[in-house]
Amino acid sequence: MKKYERSRENTVVVKSSLIEGKGIFASKPIPADELVMIIKGETITGKECERREEEENNVYIFWNGRYYIDTVNTIKIKYINHSCEPNCEVLSRDKDSLNLVSARDIQKGEELTIDYGYDEIYEMCRCPACS
Ligand SMILES: [Zn+2]
Repeated sequence: MKKYERSRENTVVVKSSLIEGKGIFASKPIPADELVMIIKGETITGKECERREEEENNVYIFWNGRYYIDTVNTIKIKYINHSCEPNCEVLSRDKDSLNLVSARDIQKGEELTIDYGYDEIYEMCRCPACS
């Protein structure tokens, strides 16, 4: 498996999005299969994840196959929007972080997106690929 070492987090900027609310964008071109940024947050249990989703409407929790990573207090990754044709993907890294990796060449100014991968998102999807 490729080791992703150089993060391009410095080139990721938060701006208002045409998809929804705020989004994150590439301020420089990013080649395919590069580390865009490391997703770090607070590592929580599945039970605590459910509680935060239900009681706090927290929609910023990622899953790494074992732990749930709450990114609500981050300044960038929490704003990544969903697309059914995403230009990024989330890969496992270690027990409390994930890699956000470019799935194809990304141009300067493009919004970075991932496939959220849960059923409800597809029902009323307003992503660029669906609208
Ligand atoms: Zn869609």
